Amino acid sequence: MRFARFVHAGGVSFGIVEGEAQSGLTIAEIDSIPFQNVRPTGNRWALADVRLLAPIFSSKVIGIGRNYADHAAELGNELPKEPLIFIKPSTSVIGPNDAIRIPSVAKQVEHEAELAVVIGASGARRVDRAGAQKAIFGYTVGNDVTARDLQRSDPQWTRAKGFDSFCPLGPWIETDLDVSDLEVRCEVGRNPDAMEVRQLGRTKDMVFDVATLVSYVSHVMTLLPGDVILTGTPAGVSQIVPGETVSVSVQGIGELRNPVVSLD
Ligand code: MG
Repeated sequence: MRFARFVHAGGVSFGIVEGEAQSGLTIAEIDSIPFQNVRPTGNRWALADVRLLAPIFSSKVIGIGRNYADHAAELGNELPKEPLIFIKPSTSVIGPNDAIRIPSVAKQVEHEAELAVVIGASGARRVDRAGAQKAIFGYTVGNDVTARDLQRSDPQWTRAKGFDSFCPLGPWIETDLDVSDLEVRCEVGRNPDAMEVRQLGRTKDMVFDVATLVSYVSHVMTLLPGDVILTGTPAGVSQIVPGETVSVSVQGIGELRNPVVSLD
């Protein structure tokens, strides 16, 4: 199922996205956060008539660095011997169509298209790979926006990856998905009808797979319901500038689009 969070005339709700793109998607409101036995309220909208938000509240977003060999190589880095983790603050999260706001201090901001793991109701603390699989609620699409110049100049990555709006997530959470070999794509352009493909990878090329990542992170910090792990990006990262739109998509989930603007 596809769970989304959205704004409608009556407020903010969670809902289940139904239908096919060709015939028109609808969203059926549910009565609570989508982890356990949710009930439809009976309210339904055309997806085109609501505004999607980031699909979940996260206490934290954990990023994984250098988890695709071709991306590690393009930045001149060795492959890590164990997962390389960092934190993106919850305040960096934005939803579909929200603007990525580039501060003037960042001179080279880049997209990173990523499969994003969403932790479910049980959370995860010191789980093995099997326990990690059980702790996963579903998957969404993420863009690990990074100020590459600041990542190079700072001894650690918090500033480069932590600006407000540097973590687009969405459009929804897909709960029924085999993520072992999915296409991960990023397109950038000024004209939505003429976007240029910048990244095109497959999740089978991850250095550490999803279960290994969740298990590893859970041995460092307790993963709470709704926490997100960004699983790393394939090769092709490149600069984005105000006036462009970034589209990130993961096969079987959907497309996440965000315009890029100047913050100051
Ligand atoms: Mg990344």
